[in-house]
Amino acid sequence: YQAKTGGSGVAAYDSATDAASTDQLALLAELREALDADDQLVLALQPSVDLTTGAPTGVEALIRWQHPRRGWLNPADFIRAVEHSELLAPFTRYVVDRALDIAAEWARHGLDVPISVNVSARSLLDARLPAQIGELLRRHQVPADRLVLEITETVVMSELEVIDEVLGALRELGVRLAVDDFGTGFSSLTFLTRISVDELKVDRSFVVRMADSPQAAAIVRTTIDLGRQLGLRVVAEGVETADQRAALAQLGCAAAQGYHFFKPMPADKIVAVLRSLLDSAQAQILPLRADG
Ligand code: C2E
Ligand code: MG
Ligand code: MG
Ligand code: MG
Repeated sequence: YQAKTGGSGVAAYDSATDAASTDQLALLAELREALDADDQLVLALQPSVDLTTGAPTGVEALIRWQHPRRGWLNPADFIRAVEHSELLAPFTRYVVDRALDIAAEWARHGLDVPISVNVSARSLLDARLPAQIGELLRRHQVPADRLVLEITETVVMSELEVIDEVLGALRELGVRLAVDDFGTGFSSLTFLTRISVDELKVDRSFVVRMADSPQAAAIVRTTIDLGRQLGLRVVAEGVETADQRAALAQLGCAAAQGYHFFKPMPADKIVAVLRSLLDSAQAQILPLRADG
């Protein structure tokens, strides 16, 4: 495996012992089976909320692997290996398929909330991706604008041209794009000048340090400002405390996500949660209208 980006995870992977690489190969063989099985790869769901009204602004799908022998695995345990294998395309298709299945169920319940899926930047090198996603949208009969693709911006410059094309085709479909972990990549700002995105997700590392690092606070403030100037939605990630929530609201951040609101939850819990969020947001708005 070639270390194309300077991420620490890649370096750690490259220096892995032979035993560890053998284990990664075994893991990939098992993933191939998991993609055919029905119940091993599941999506945990985490809502984001509007900081003014409390209404749900979206739900992020986060992959979990219920491995028959290794137990529950998190993305950190296997995504890196998947990204460097030929399983990436079938894996991405699997996740989008499952997410759209969930979105279709929400539509049947009359819930109009977008679902966000994480897509490795490497998936964007595959020119077949837009057609595959278009086909899945049609099959599930989900409007394209209910699907948000969150892209982690570890894009290699030399590959930007291919990625531009793929992202352009996705935009033509009507799918929405978000930059995940904004501020942590090498090319975040360049990225914004090349493709039009709809959403910036402020990385958790800045939110966590906001209170005691003026630098982190300045980055959060600047990202919110940038979003306002470019007309993009800004969502703060990893909000864990009421203080962080209040600070973000004061800075004019539109939406937030994190353990303070909800931990990622199983799909069978989410409809009730979305309902109650929508109900309480309504309850807040109605008395205001009655007064006016
Ligand atoms: P991400 O997209 O930035 O997702 C946020 C991560 O932070 C998730 O970890 C989530 O569970 C966690 N999180 C949410 N709120 C809080 C909080 O308040 N405090 C803390 N400490 N953590 C919080 P998770 O699920 O382990 O996912 C890690 C990363 O793996 C994701 O980061 C995303 O880049 C990647 N990932 C997840 N699912 C997929 C997938 O289906 N495909 C691909 N390609 N990548 C995925
Ligand atoms: Mg994400
Ligand atoms: Mg993130
Ligand atoms: Mg991430």
